[in-house]
Amino acid sequence: MKCRKCGGRGVINLRQHKLILCKEHYLEWLPEQVQRAIDRYHMFTPQERVLVAVSGGKDSLSLWDILTRLGYHTDGLYIGLGIEGEVHYSDESLRLTEQFAGAHGLHLNTIKVAEEYGLAVPEIAQQTYHGQTKPCSVCGRIKRHIMNRAARDGGYDVLATGHNLDDEAAVLFGNTLNWSAGYLMRQGPVLEADIPGVVRKVKPLCRIYEREMAAYALLRGIEYIYDECPFAVGATSIYYKELLNQLEADHPGAKLNFYLSFLQAKKGGLFTGAADQARQSLHPCPTCGQPTSVEGECAFCRMMGKVKKLTKS
Ligand code: SF4
Ligand SMILES: [Zn+2]
Ligand SMILES: [Zn+2]
Repeated sequence: MKCRKCGGRGVINLRQHKLILCKEHYLEWLPEQVQRAIDRYHMFTPQERVLVAVSGGKDSLSLWDILTRLGYHTDGLYIGLGIEGEVHYSDESLRLTEQFAGAHGLHLNTIKVAEEYGLAVPEIAQQTYHGQTKPCSVCGRIKRHIMNRAARDGGYDVLATGHNLDDEAAVLFGNTLNWSAGYLMRQGPVLEADIPGVVRKVKPLCRIYEREMAAYALLRGIEYIYDECPFAVGATSIYYKELLNQLEADHPGAKLNFYLSFLQAKKGGLFTGAADQARQSLHPCPTCGQPTSVEGECAFCRMMGKVKKLTKS
C-alpha cells in the first residue's frame, strides 16, 4: 500500500475516494477537506469568532485541532452533563478536553449543568420525565439551549459541532424512515441564524467519515475519551450506523452519496414549504429569548422551572 502523493508507506485507504495516503499526506489532506466544506457551505470566514462545542470525543477535539491548524479564531465550549457510569464519563471527558486546550494554549469555556441549575442531566430527566429510562431527549434539549446561549452571550459569530458524516447519515436515515419533514428541512451543514436569539450552527465535518476522524485523532496523537456515554448503548442511531456501514462495505461511497444527494434535493426545493411553515410558527421564549414553537415559555424553561421548584423544596 503506497501513498499516491509521495510513494511512501500508506497508512489509510480511502476507498470511496480511491486514495491511499501516508501519515504526513493524510494529516494534510483531511484539513483541506474540512476547509472545502467550510467554503462550499459558507460556514464562516477567518475574521469570525468560532465557538467549538467539545465533548472530549475524537470528533470534537479533532475538529478543534483542525480549525486551529487552519488558522481560525476558536474557543471551546465544554458542557458538564454530570454523567457517571463505569469510567466517570463526564469527569474523564472534561479532563481530556482541558488537557487538549492546555497543550494547545486554547481557551475553554466550561458550563456545568449541576452547578448552574442545581441538578445534573440524569437527575433532571428522572425528576421531570418520570418513567423515561434514558435521559437523551432531556440531555439534547439542555445541550442545544446552553450551546446557543453560550455562543450568543459570548459574542461568537458561529457555533461549530463535531458531527461527522456517519452521524449525519444516521440522523438522515431515521428522519427519512419517518419522513419527518420538519427535521429534514432543518438538517444540513449550516443552520442559519435567521431567527432572533439564534446563533449560526455549522458542522464542518459533515462530509468526513467516522473512520477518517478516528484515523486523524490517532495519527495526530490526540487523547480522547474512547467510551461512549453509558446512555448511548442501544440507541437507534447506533443501529442505523451499523446498517449504513453494511451498505458502505458493499458500495464504497454510499453514505456520502446518500447525504450529498439529500442536500442536493433540499437545494432543489424539496422541503421549501415545510421550512417556511416551521419558521413562521417560531417566536422568542418570553423567559430566555430563544426560539420556540410552543405557546408561552419554551420547553427548556418549563423544564427548568420544575427543577427550580424541586431544588428549593
Ligand atoms: S447518549 Fe449521553 S450524551 Fe448523548 S444524549 Fe444521551 S445522555 Fe446525552
Ligand atoms: Zn505521502
Ligand atoms: Zn425559554
